[in-house]
Amino acid sequence: MESSIERVLPKIKTPSYVLEEALLKKNLKLLKNIEQKSGAKIILALKGFAMWSTFDMVREYLSGATASGLWECQLAFEELRREVHTYSPGFKEDEIELIAKMSDYIIFNSINQFKKYKERVKNIHPDISLGIRINPQTSAAPVELYNPCAPYSRLGVTKEAFEWDDMMEGFHFHALCEESAEALEQVLKSFEESFKEFLPRLKWVNFGGGHHITKKGYDTQKLIRLIKDFSQKYGLQVYLEPGEAVGWQTGVLVASVVDIVHNQMDIAILDTSAETHMPDVLAMPYRPEVRGAGMPDEKPYRYRLAGNSCLAGDIIGDYSFDRPLKPGDKIIFEDMIHYTFVKNTTFNGIRLPSLAILKENGDYEVIKRFDYCDYKHRLS
Ligand SMILES: *Cc1c(COP(=O)(O)O)cnc(C)c1O
Repeated sequence: MESSIERVLPKIKTPSYVLEEALLKKNLKLLKNIEQKSGAKIILALKGFAMWSTFDMVREYLSGATASGLWECQLAFEELRREVHTYSPGFKEDEIELIAKMSDYIIFNSINQFKKYKERVKNIHPDISLGIRINPQTSAAPVELYNPCAPYSRLGVTKEAFEWDDMMEGFHFHALCEESAEALEQVLKSFEESFKEFLPRLKWVNFGGGHHITKKGYDTQKLIRLIKDFSQKYGLQVYLEPGEAVGWQTGVLVASVVDIVHNQMDIAILDTSAETHMPDVLAMPYRPEVRGAGMPDEKPYRYRLAGNSCLAGDIIGDYSFDRPLKPGDKIIFEDMIHYTFVKNTTFNGIRLPSLAILKENGDYEVIKRFDYCDYKHRLS
């Protein structure tokens, strides 16, 4: 598998994300297998992965998509065309009716919003199922930026703020980020303790995202057991809505070296940017893997890889290589499909990376190239 990107490398115009169809299919197959063994339905969180040109494949394996508002809802409705679940921290008056038309499930973030919209949504779409997001007030999220259960969190209703409503058919919680089945077990335990009197009245419970299912070492057997036990105990449908686990290790970002400068160390300036094209490198923060490169002191030629924005901190990390880098060399960043192009910006007027797919049959297809108009038309 590793060599397939290298085979098409000369064709790749940088910067470009390249998704490998075979790797996406591998993840989807594993998720489908968990659906079948556990009875849960798995839906794609569009927030993390929304390359809709792959949805013909995604549709074969997953039960639908979860949207964070009107536009993601519309994308799921138009392009995935299976179950559409929509949650938003705050639904707006001028969007709620369209969202109700296109969604099969709608999840409110507060009791206020539930009460405000429940009748309107049902009038527009009588079959829609109404749910409420719960804050289970326990989480193992790695950093506060990604912790929906941190103190003062606005995301979901706490036990104290909760009020039952007979129109509620489902509960939703999302408390994990790149977590194990053990972490889910902890959250589930505290969720169950706080809300068990209501659970037998529900049709479904959504366990949110953040399950690192497709990562090597994830305990899928434990996940299956947790889902089965829970759904049998309360007689309800369980949902999972992973984003990262779908896009996990399904492709790369390919960039080129533009210049090498020296300031006490060698610094390679690339035609990509952490700030605009791989924001989690700065937000998490983390050091992405680079194909063929080692830790800073592992190999003879050491470089800092840095972006071509004007942000001083636009630094991807320090790496070492077997050979000196020179302008024109291509750099392959691993695992750059989830939470990358969905978050990109045109800050500094930097070109957005193309979106390309390496097909299972070996064909290399550029599905989207961005140009000056994409930058200009967002501004005025
Ligand atoms: C972000 C998010 C997800 C997906 O999380 P992953 O970590 O990508 O699996 C699912 N549900 C909600 C409510 C989210 O905010």
